[in-house]
Amino acid sequence: MITVITFNPSIDRLYKLETFKIGTVQRANFVNPTAGGKGLNVAKVIKQLGESPICLGFLGGYNGLYIKNELDKVEIVNNFTEINGESRICLNIIDGDKNSTEILEKGPRINEDDILDFESKLDKVLESSKVLVASGSLSQGMPVDYYKTVGEMCNRKGVKFILDTSGRSLEMSISENLYLIKPNIEELELLTHKKINNKEDAINASKFLLEKGVKNICISMGKDGMIFLNKEHIYDVKIPKIEVLNTVGSGDSSIAGFAYGVLNDYSLKDCLKLANSCGMSNALYMETGYINKKDIALFLNEIKINEYNY
Ligand code: ATP
Repeated sequence: MITVITFNPSIDRLYKLETFKIGTVQRANFVNPTAGGKGLNVAKVIKQLGESPICLGFLGGYNGLYIKNELDKVEIVNNFTEINGESRICLNIIDGDKNSTEILEKGPRINEDDILDFESKLDKVLESSKVLVASGSLSQGMPVDYYKTVGEMCNRKGVKFILDTSGRSLEMSISENLYLIKPNIEELELLTHKKINNKEDAINASKFLLEKGVKNICISMGKDGMIFLNKEHIYDVKIPKIEVLNTVGSGDSSIAGFAYGVLNDYSLKDCLKLANSCGMSNALYMETGYINKKDIALFLNEIKINEYNY
């Protein structure tokens, strides 16, 4: 089973406007509220691929109830810790020129009892998990290196830990308990404190993370596909050009594809192909965390993987 952690889920509201003019009253032609947060996108894509993930994290208030109800509707199993605060709402405004403007709330503050409740739930589900995916930011009130604790819990139970977060919480959680991280270029620059201009820069900047014990690294590069590194291989994943509609959630979809591959004992190259196919498919639709299996079948044949010399 795949367990998916989302500490800070949200109701994501997507507004489509003709033009986005600051300081005016505007009418949205299209509004689409969904249960969001990076981990929930991952869980939705895993579900569409045909596996049943279980979601953990924190939910609170009416927004929390809405999110839980949305997950229940699509039969995604969940066992969130109920908190006193109100889960957040995040806005994505897309204008006629397809520019995306996101407004993200920080989300509720959680306390020590919430963390203890979460840990007892996590401890139980790890018993029957092969892979754990943790995606997105920590909640306010959590120790900045909390993902390190999650890594230790996974290590004790022999569970493969995939972490997709950024900034200090990623930096502070780098350890030998990380099976995979998936920074994009911006996140990699923050993590390595280096400017990345091309694939070679990305590879060179990342190698020290392998020395620190991270087992596998996927550097996602949007339309340029992905670079993969571990101690044995460096792969350049080349993807075909596509007409994208909304790339928000493509990173989460690619994580879902990789996790699905690991769960089902796919070869490394097949995990990478599925990861990129899911990221690409998500980019073809307005809905975040939606993929189409017909696209996936097509992309799997078109993606090429080249090996770099170490
Ligand atoms: P997010 O944070 O929005 O989830 P990300 O920045 O973490 O995304 P990206 O690098 O944008 O991740 O995308 C992940 C994968 O999705 C890419 O490696 C690629 O396979 C696919 N993808 C994303 N954008 C495009 C695009 N414009 N054209 C084709 N494929 C794309």
